[in-house]
Order: sequence, then structure tokens, then C-alpha cells
Amino acid sequence: MKMLCPQCGSALPPEAVNIATDLAQCPECGQVNRASACVVEDEISKDVLRQPPPGTWLRQEADAIVVGTTMRSKSAWAMVLFTSVWSGISIFGIYGIQIIKRSFELTPTLFGIPFLLVTIFLVGTTIYMIFGRQEWRLDKDGGSGFNGVGRFGKRWRFAWKDLSRIHTHTTRDNHGNTSYKLILEGVSPELKISLPECKERQQFIINAIRYYHQQWRRWK
Ligand SMILES: [Zn+2]
Repeated sequence: MKMLCPQCGSALPPEAVNIATDLAQCPECGQVNRASACVVEDEISKDVLRQPPPGTWLRQEADAIVVGTTMRSKSAWAMVLFTSVWSGISIFGIYGIQIIKRSFELTPTLFGIPFLLVTIFLVGTTIYMIFGRQEWRLDKDGGSGFNGVGRFGKRWRFAWKDLSRIHTHTTRDNHGNTSYKLILEGVSPELKISLPECKERQQFIINAIRYYHQQWRRWK
């Protein structure tokens, strides 16, 4: 962990830092700062971008670099099975029978509407779990991103100058499912982006963003 004085930029020796009180006094300029405000992220080397792990990609375009990852989830096949069985039975039972008998019945048709909506939701979720992808376009001013399937999904934009910190947030729900979010602090509104399950893919995306953020700080 590297620590620099935010006032004059000198490196802070360990004896200048008091972790318990979260204070650090710079031996060069005498300035007292919050210790946590003096921590600098480790340098990211370009090597982390040389070998995108399976399921991720990186390409150079005229004015930007594009990094992406599949959002494919390991439980996608369980979801395919569940959706087929659940929707197959309920939709066939409600609408299939009417079509075969060529008789329209109002009550079951209305009763079936919630099942249709749930089916649409399940099919959408399944498609995302198989074909979902995330792509970031990073240029000299900032970046934009997309997360979804085909042309449907979430889009966002941010500028390097607003970005103060990049970190991940892990949540575990009651069913034991873990989900990961990438948080871009400082941009407004704060961006919370879903990350893939695979740690290597997560790390690749985070490193790529950190690397270009670091380059921007050097060039500005
Ligand atoms: Zn100083």
C-alpha cells in the first residue's frame, strides 16, 4: 500500500501514519491529513490487459478502446429447464387446451394473464443469462457502457474527471446467491453496474477501467 501526502505529494513513511486515529502527518510539509485520504491505488501495468481471460475481449478502435465480457451465468441451464417446465405446463394448461379444443373461455384466459407475464419475465431472464454481455468503450474523456442482450439493456456514460474511486460490492441474498456490482464513485448519479460471476472476468473489466483512468491522470 502506497501513501502520499495529498498536500505536497511526498511519500509518507510508516511512522508518519497513525492507523488507529486515521491521521497522517507529512514529514515534508507538516500537513496533517486523514490517513485514508493518503492511500494511493497500486499502479496497474498494461500487462493485465495483454491476455483477456476466456469470455472477455479487448479491441482497439480509432479513438477508443473497447473491453467486454460475457454475462453468461453457470445456472443458465437450470434456468432453461425451469422456464421450459414451468411455462410449458402453465401456458399449455391455460391456452393450449383452448386452442386444441378451438373454444375460447373467458375465465381461464383472464386467469392466465399473470402466468403469461411471469413467462415473459422468465424467458427474458433466461436469454440474458445465456446471451447477456457487457461492453465498455473507454476514450480520452471517459467511457460509456452497455449491459444487456442485443440492443436491449442498460446504457451509461461517465467522465474520468468525475470518477474518484472504483470498487466492487458483493451481496449475498437469503437463497445463497451471490451477486457482484462495480461501483463508480464520484460520477453523478453514482453508477452501480452488475458484474459477471466469474472472478477472472470481473478482474479483467475492473483492471481495464483502472488502467485507463490511471493513464488519463497521467496525461491531463
Ligand atoms: Zn506534505
